[in-house]
Amino acid sequence: MAERILVIEDEVKITDFLRRGLSYEGYEVDIAHDGEAGLAKALESRPDLIILDIMLPGLDGLEVCRQLRAESDVPILMLTAKDAVPDRVAGLDSGADDYLVKPFAFDELLARIRALLRRRQPAEQQVLRFADLTLNQATRRVTRGERQIELTAKEYDVLELFMRHPRQVLTRDIIYERIWGYDFGGESNIIEVYVRYLRAKLEAGGEPRLIHTVRGVGYVLREE
Ligand code: CA
Repeated sequence: MAERILVIEDEVKITDFLRRGLSYEGYEVDIAHDGEAGLAKALESRPDLIILDIMLPGLDGLEVCRQLRAESDVPILMLTAKDAVPDRVAGLDSGADDYLVKPFAFDELLARIRALLRRRQPAEQQVLRFADLTLNQATRRVTRGERQIELTAKEYDVLELFMRHPRQVLTRDIIYERIWGYDFGGESNIIEVYVRYLRAKLEAGGEPRLIHTVRGVGYVLREE
């Protein structure tokens, strides 16, 4: 069953981005554009997790968080403005479980969401498998067959994205958005570079290729 996430945020650019991205990841997404509506939805629909922006018109995020905490222990991930350190402290004081600073990369958000949801999950659900490849999301340990593979943080993120979507063609846009975020405006060959690193490590024992190029589109994790 899909886990349900309630997003309480007034900025439409961000709610659109989150709705699209989280739906794609298989979550059921509900949106509220101000604090009062968010609080009402949270208490009525009992989501599995709440993403709560601090800066909201009317009832602000801190107040929403305090009122929610009086009624529910739902995991709350707070979004705070860049470098607003007092905000972060206040957010955690008001009962939030974690916070993320804007602008954030979608992949970072997903990692936080999974960590919060995982607290309720049994350990065996935290291992992704494809062919002879395993990726443990709790320990970040990656193996191919018996061989352990050391990955950098970014390489791990890219591989995890592929393993969460086996046999699906991931377009370059999706990979950019997922790993580098909505504000990413960097150079265009960064994905190629990371795929090359990953292939080198995954195939270091002479194993067959798992990450394949789909020319002009992107990449896919599949067996030959
Ligand atoms: Ca806002």
